[in-house]
Amino acid sequence: MYNIKKPIIEISDCVLCDICVDLCPDFFIKNQAGYIELSENFENIDKYLIDKYLDDIKDEDKKREIIKRLEDDINEVIKNCRGDCVSWE
Ligand code: SF4
Repeated sequence: MYNIKKPIIEISDCVLCDICVDLCPDFFIKNQAGYIELSENFENIDKYLIDKYLDDIKDEDKKREIIKRLEDDINEVIKNCRGDCVSWE
């Protein structure tokens, strides 16, 4: 079981700039209604990591590095979000 912090999106402030989708497409998606939401990868982070980084996650240090990298990507989204509407839970 892996732990990754989860961001929240204050959708009423979203200006649909798509920066989150561009910077972090595995975790931020635009739904069919045209709104941004977190992808299902957050609900099943274990499966996501195994599917994407199969070999690397056997090593604890690499696993931590991968998770840190994912969190850094999300920090980039938080920093660049035009609506200032993404934050950590
Ligand atoms: S970066 Fe922020 S404002 Fe832009 S689409 Fe994503 S949530 Fe909306």
